[in-house]
Amino acid sequence: MKFDVLLKNCHLVDFKNDIEAVMDIGILGGKVEEVKTEIRSDLASELFDLQGALVVPGVIDPHMHASAWLGGRAAHKMLALAGVTTAFDLAGPVDTTLALARKYGAGLNICCLNSIRPGYTVEDSDPSASELQRFLQDSLTSGAIGYKLLGGHYPLSPEATRRAIETANDSGAYVAFHAGTLENGSNLKGMEEALALAGKNRMHLAHINSYCRGQFDIPENEAVAALRRLQEYPNVFAESYLSPYNGTSAKCTDGVPESLVTRRCLELASYAPTEDGLRKAIQDGWANFVLERSGINVLVSGQDGVENWLAADKAGTVSFRVNPGSSRYLIAAGRKRDGSFVVNAFSSDGGGIPRNEIVPQGLALVKWGELSLKEFVAKTSFNTAKMLGLSGKGHLGEGADADITVIDELCHDVLMTIVAGKIVMYRGLVVGQGATVLTTEQGCQAVKNAGLSASVISLFGR
Ligand SMILES: [Zn+2]
Repeated sequence: MKFDVLLKNCHLVDFKNDIEAVMDIGILGGKVEEVKTEIRSDLASELFDLQGALVVPGVIDPHMHASAWLGGRAAHKMLALAGVTTAFDLAGPVDTTLALARKYGAGLNICCLNSIRPGYTVEDSDPSASELQRFLQDSLTSGAIGYKLLGGHYPLSPEATRRAIETANDSGAYVAFHAGTLENGSNLKGMEEALALAGKNRMHLAHINSYCRGQFDIPENEAVAALRRLQEYPNVFAESYLSPYNGTSAKCTDGVPESLVTRRCLELASYAPTEDGLRKAIQDGWANFVLERSGINVLVSGQDGVENWLAADKAGTVSFRVNPGSSRYLIAAGRKRDGSFVVNAFSSDGGGIPRNEIVPQGLALVKWGELSLKEFVAKTSFNTAKMLGLSGKGHLGEGADADITVIDELCHDVLMTIVAGKIVMYRGLVVGQGATVLTTEQGCQAVKNAGLSASVISLFGR
């Protein structure tokens, strides 16, 4: 047999190779072997007729959560169901992300950051360059590709934030930032500060939509200001998610939610920023507790939500419906004068947080007429692949990794998720296992020790 798998009659859309046509795709040894208008059916061991399905390079989610701290074990299944083939855990801790992937993985490619968190992973909110360097090296040796600044939730001083960005850049490691410092919150001012602190350094600025919720002006004006400012920083990779729901910590200590974002969300709807305020908000349905049911995470509120939050020792994750449609839309669609997107990619900020909506919401923008199908592929796969230096991903040219997302053209349901030529999800049934971990040379051993296979990547195309 010439092919392991043959996908017939695909409506193939490939941004990089400029293809939008009905094609057959032959897969061999985990790679795309041949793409032609007609490939003989008898040449394949396994054949799928995908007439009526959109076939795109596997969705790469640049921001999700799948650790014991955030997202949890259901993340892999939820991502596979959502058509994601490569997923970036933007908080870690990497050791628990790897352990969960080993046990509950769905056969996806994953990579991970560790988080800088005062009182937990660094001593306080003003860590020195040497403390940051130590934490960075520990993170890389543990399999992470760098670290994340959790500013909006758990801020550092502006100077320490700048040091953290510089330290990662000097080491060629990855740094992502949820904007916010001790001086500015998780909002437009915090975002502007984050860009200024990055300067000319490389940085991944998380979920741009979340800084435009209308704290200083109407959300539309904030979105336009964010888009304008971002264009001054081509060194910054930016993503935005498409769900109305956020996700934040439900953990309370001494009667107060630990996260500044959680407190702010409570105040937004006139609840006290306290444990009691959070209980009332869950009871009323303003806050939604993230709970695992039948192997996937769902949002629950009311008495059910309160009881489950209490049973989790007042910890876990809650989601608030705080992302206005107008700013989400502008940020998803905003373009530079040359037609390219200001915000490089769609993310979910989901994984185990139930909002893995890249495919349905992204295609809604296509239906709206805001994006072409090829641009959908750019924002869901190609741009992130390029940023992570994954030359075999983000497209389906011959020789590419056979990471493929198959979507029902009419209802936008994900029908199949294929990773390295293997079907990991078929019509709602997740059959993949484990994970391939994208890591640096330094992290390979830790990945192997965790019982997973490692694939070395060259960050930022270096
Ligand atoms: Zn996140």
